[in-house]
Amino acid sequence: MVLHNKINREELKAQLMAETFNRKTISFYRYFYLNEPKEFRDSIYKDWFDLDCLGRIYVAREGVNAQMSVPEHHYDAFIKTLGKYEIFQNIPIKYAVEDDGKSFFKLTIKVRPKLVADGLADGAFDVTNVGKHLSGIEFHETLKDPDTVVVDMRNLYESEIGRFENAICPEADTFKEELEIVVDLLEDKKDEKVLLYCTGGIRCEKASAYLKHHGFNDVNQLHGGVLEYVRQIKSVGLESKFLGKNFVFDERMAEDVNGQILASCHQCGTPFDTHKNCENDPCHLLFIQCPKCAEQYDDCCSSECQEEAHIRKTDPASSLLPPRQPKKYRKSMVMALREKEKVS
Ligand SMILES: [Zn+2]
Ligand SMILES: [Zn+2]
Repeated sequence: MVLHNKINREELKAQLMAETFNRKTISFYRYFYLNEPKEFRDSIYKDWFDLDCLGRIYVAREGVNAQMSVPEHHYDAFIKTLGKYEIFQNIPIKYAVEDDGKSFFKLTIKVRPKLVADGLADGAFDVTNVGKHLSGIEFHETLKDPDTVVVDMRNLYESEIGRFENAICPEADTFKEELEIVVDLLEDKKDEKVLLYCTGGIRCEKASAYLKHHGFNDVNQLHGGVLEYVRQIKSVGLESKFLGKNFVFDERMAEDVNGQILASCHQCGTPFDTHKNCENDPCHLLFIQCPKCAEQYDDCCSSECQEEAHIRKTDPASSLLPPRQPKKYRKSMVMALREKEKVS
């Protein structure tokens, strides 16, 4: 089976490379109530398959999130298909900047329970009543106002290595936690100007609606997220107010924004900001480790893991060791380091 998939993928890739036309890489998302996500999915699949569109699209009862590539000669026809559906009326489309149009090999449209997991029941709040969208430049200008409250809607492992100056960065491991913490933290700020940001904008789209549901009156969000902010300020030569690195969800793990190192090795506290996963497979903890500690601990998060990894590698009977649940990001490690910094 694996072999079959592999060949298939290679074939798809060869097909894509052999194409004689150009493709546009685009993305868009919107929260919107869909009663029949499955039917909707089948309908757009047919429309877009017929136009040789490729990409990865998620459909849920709460909306659509799409990243795709569209043949240039079918682009007008593609835009026409959007016109058929209420959810896509006047939807803002983002175009990839550095684009060779070869980002996707096939068209995948999946139905999911949610676009962004929030742990809340469907209909717990109106996901379509979102905050005001600010462009990267507008966000940059608004940050200068000292009376705004800036909130990082990402998890701690993301904000730890990069964030906007003076942003509130909740100590959350998941988006669900994040929502709860933010509403608590900002209890007495319901009439102040709140600025939200995340990586690509989709988490803020939901978070802004959640805050409005909780009585916040002036909720604003960075449209297109940090990715778009960085692109916009670079294009006009402004100095970034986002410091450090932007965590991204591909092999690169992060994009350097302004060269500052905001984080420290979780083991020794040396300034360092590259994440890795613990080398002991059953642990797989995501953490920050400097090269010196990497050598000392054989790329493991702790001496226990180092020992266990060693046994697994050298002792054939180790396959009998009970499997472990992978650990979550170790918030306590970060907190312990911050405490240490405060004391010293
Ligand atoms: Zn270290
Ligand atoms: Zn470990």
